[in-house]
Amino acid sequence: MVQTQLVQRGINDPRVLAVMRGVLRHLFVDEALAGRAYSDSALPIGEGQTISQPFIVARMTESLQLVGDEEVLEIGTGSGYQTAVLAGLCKKVYTIERHTKLADKARRKLRNLNIHNVIYRNGDGTLGWPEDRLFDRILVTAGAPVVPESLIDQLSIGGFLLIPEGGADCQELVRLIKQEDGSIKREILEMCRFVPLVGAKGWAET
Ligand code: SAH
Repeated sequence: MVQTQLVQRGINDPRVLAVMRGVLRHLFVDEALAGRAYSDSALPIGEGQTISQPFIVARMTESLQLVGDEEVLEIGTGSGYQTAVLAGLCKKVYTIERHTKLADKARRKLRNLNIHNVIYRNGDGTLGWPEDRLFDRILVTAGAPVVPESLIDQLSIGGFLLIPEGGADCQELVRLIKQEDGSIKREILEMCRFVPLVGAKGWAET
């Protein structure tokens, strides 16, 4: 998976590749799907949600340019796969998931894998982390109609916010960088397709 889906498509950060070799994706899907765990696609994880395609996990992780001392906020824990990858590359991950069942399952899974630098919350991540704090990186793994202001507010100076933004079926993967003067530099990385970010500052529940 790492060689054919990531390296051959241009992922070249050695830290990202090493961590993705070590986090075994089949542990994050149901046993019935384990045979497809290393295929080039998203897979269902219950509650109508999906574990992202390995390439997109790698691409987003690489775009965060983690060196190891960052505090990262992740919105959309899902299976916990992306969380585990982040946890291997930064100091601490704060992760929020709106589905209780998924949040509990991911927490148990990461604990069993001896990953302890993660703080979990069950709730609406469009409102940001409930306590007043700043993050070096914020990663949203669900598609937003617009970037929630509360997330921009919780980004530290020099920090990156990576978020799929756009329509329900197709989004742009956007990277926002907070400048010294507090202004925001905006870059579009590529087109992508994520499940919707549902919440007070996201899509309405259907
Ligand atoms: N990174 C995950 C991908 C999960 S799909 C993985 O690797 O498995 C996106 C997740 O975002 C879903 O689990 C969905 O329930 C969650 N989500 C959607 N809107 C949310 C919100 N407002 N707050 C927190 N989680 C949300």
